[in-house]
Amino acid sequence: MVTLTDVTKTFGAERAADNVSLHVPEGQTTVLIGPSGCGKSTLLRLIIGLIRPDSGTIRVDGTTLSDANLRTLRHRMGYVIQEGGLFPHRTARGNVTLLAKHLRWSTTRIRDRIEALLELVQLPADRLDVPPPQLSGGQRQRVSLMRALMLDPPLLLLDEPLGALDPLIRADLQTDLRRIFRTLGKTVVLVTHDLHEAAYFGDQIVLLRSGQVAQQGPFRELRDAPASDFVREFVQAQQSLTTALDT
Ligand code: ADP
Ligand code: MG
Repeated sequence: MVTLTDVTKTFGAERAADNVSLHVPEGQTTVLIGPSGCGKSTLLRLIIGLIRPDSGTIRVDGTTLSDANLRTLRHRMGYVIQEGGLFPHRTARGNVTLLAKHLRWSTTRIRDRIEALLELVQLPADRLDVPPPQLSGGQRQRVSLMRALMLDPPLLLLDEPLGALDPLIRADLQTDLRRIFRTLGKTVVLVTHDLHEAAYFGDQIVLLRSGQVAQQGPFRELRDAPASDFVREFVQAQQSLTTALDT
């Protein structure tokens, strides 16, 4: 569904993506994980075309991203950023329907889609009438997800969608998100810095370090056959954290 080939993106002297090659299989969930600043968000922004690579190619759905086709291809991707990225001065409904209105969907089509999405993300309809600052953190993320899913894109990109939530709401939304991914059969790329979340969601995990792929594969592979000391230490550090909490 998404293929990056030798993708490099620098910011000044910083190599945020350093010759990354990566395949995101269709209908599966791929999780990008790694320490802060390792380039997770940069890879998502490259895939959705908000930033363009210095070199290398990005293919989405068989089409190579170019300046000419960016806008069209973007309609085939839903994007949820941390904190939701919703416009605070519009209602939640206004946020969700923005793009569909821009594309001149009919009122009936918009209404039907909203109804289906409310059911899917388990949000009470009246929550759509208020601006996002009046929603709880969990509700805001549900609205962000509705917005991302509005055009029914085959590809869903989520940047730490649960990062800002407190633990109980986080657990709730985690369960709902996985159900949604499975029900819809979307191709999902999800960013987290939490290994347990990565294992929970990911058919495939991509561990990044300093803009490079340290290892990619199912969680079990990273745990049982780490490709380097870095991978072993990253997995152990996060595991010993929960072991310490368990005792
Ligand atoms: P992550 O999401 O894994 O925390 P990012 O992809 O946001 O990491 O950033 C990777 C590196 O690139 C960091 O060192 C960050 O400071 C740098 N970077 C990202 N975006 C920009 C930008 N727009 N301008 C300058 N530096 C950036
Ligand atoms: Mg980030």
